[in-house]
Amino acid sequence: MKRYQICCIGAGYVGGPTMSMIAYQCPHIDVTVVDISQARIDSWNSPSGDLPIYEPGLRELVLSVRDRNLFFSMELDEAIENADMIFVAVNTPTKMSGLGAGRAADLTRWELSARRIAAVATTPKIVVEKSTVPIRTAEAIASVLTASGRTHFSILSNPEFLAEGLEQALKYLLCVHFCKGTAIQDLQNPDRVLIGTNTEDPCSVEAMNVLVDIYSHWVPRNRILTTNVWSSELSKLVANSCLAQRVSTINAVSEICEATGADIDEVANAVGLDKRIGVKFLKASIGFGGSCFQKDILSLVYLCESLGLDEVAEYFYWIVKLNDHQKERFVFRIIHGLFNTVTGKRITILGFAFKKDTGDTRESSAIEVCRRLLHENAILSIYDPKVQSSQILSDLGHCTRLDPLELNQHVSIYADPYEACNQSHALVVCTEWDLFKELDFERIYCQMEKPAFAFDGRNILPHERMKSLGFVVYGIGKPLDK
Ligand code: NAD
Repeated sequence: MKRYQICCIGAGYVGGPTMSMIAYQCPHIDVTVVDISQARIDSWNSPSGDLPIYEPGLRELVLSVRDRNLFFSMELDEAIENADMIFVAVNTPTKMSGLGAGRAADLTRWELSARRIAAVATTPKIVVEKSTVPIRTAEAIASVLTASGRTHFSILSNPEFLAEGLEQALKYLLCVHFCKGTAIQDLQNPDRVLIGTNTEDPCSVEAMNVLVDIYSHWVPRNRILTTNVWSSELSKLVANSCLAQRVSTINAVSEICEATGADIDEVANAVGLDKRIGVKFLKASIGFGGSCFQKDILSLVYLCESLGLDEVAEYFYWIVKLNDHQKERFVFRIIHGLFNTVTGKRITILGFAFKKDTGDTRESSAIEVCRRLLHENAILSIYDPKVQSSQILSDLGHCTRLDPLELNQHVSIYADPYEACNQSHALVVCTEWDLFKELDFERIYCQMEKPAFAFDGRNILPHERMKSLGFVVYGIGKPLDK
């Protein structure tokens, strides 16, 4: 009997991990992930398991199913033609030019994928929007797919809420592999899986049921939500906007704390213990990063503007503005602390990824902090446990437009955090890696120029202990030392 075939277009941060999870949970299904990038596919197929992205547990997951029922390939047409269901998980960044530049999502890759599917498919397909797309994209895609009239397509929206869902599942798998299940009680299921479709069309509802069945292999049925397609598309943008809004709210409060002597962690705790508010996502920081929050809020802003909802657009836009402001004022604090100039001073950047436990640097706050410090002629020593040097240099080259030679004169990247702290005037924490909490600060203090400063952009360092060693410590939303 023919096995059920899934194809996923886009082998990135979403396509690779989510398809690995489906292959792991559904051994009866063959999953083929395709991409136009040979380097990405080679890396997913790497014999040593040197995958293109880092997530805790991902390597174990991929290696357990790769070449069993999970395949990575460049053969797009073959995978499309063989598939019963096609996920599209290509990138949808903010448009950089033309109509809607700086706001609207760029759907070029989505449209190209749809055109390719339409050109190749000869049998009925279920096409699943996995990428985050603006509301009513399914309608546009349907018109591209159905134009040739050769076969039938059912279109589903199934946005990815990776952080709450897959991360937990990966942690669970990691426990099963390495802790022999001792931490299985820690397993948390994804908060929800969302599937949207045209509920008026029986074929689409049937397609939706197929996808519900797939997820039911590991997600409790009551957490699989089915909605109309527009609710599903909009929910993803709203979910990211709400999360980012909490970050911007607590960061705005952190500025009030610094001006008044209140302590942001005490305030966040007091506020978050109210069950209606909750403690999650109330950690003050140098601001959110990552490939999604800003782009999805801007996409929502663009939607509101194009609907003439200017006040609503402005409301959401302020989340992004406050995020920029938080990074800006953090850098001002560093410069101000270092006697109003960082020219020629060595500054150690601890962490470059946009959050801990990932090698992803997209829209990382560290990039903007480094850019501004380089603009002020600082000399940077950078350490991150997971981000490759080449990635750091490429990000900084891109944002500063310095050529590689100039960049090399101002930036050094270290594989050891202690070496990165040598003769430094200040430590600047940009990513909340757990290992930074455990560093030997006595040793670091001895290596640094005096006075030795620490600017903790994530409030994770042991501030009191460091102060007792002689550090001048600045934390976000923390009372300033007199
Ligand atoms: P990514 O850039 O890591 O991966 C996208 C991949 O698609 C790339 O490897 C690219 O080469 C490939 N691609 C582009 N055009 C193609 C084409 N025409 N044919 C074949 N392959 C093509 O992006 P990502 O982070 O995986 O995000 C994908 C989508 O998922 C985006 O819409 C994003 O907003 C959304 N999303 C991302 C996350 C996340 O945590 N990264 C979470 C939820 C949703």
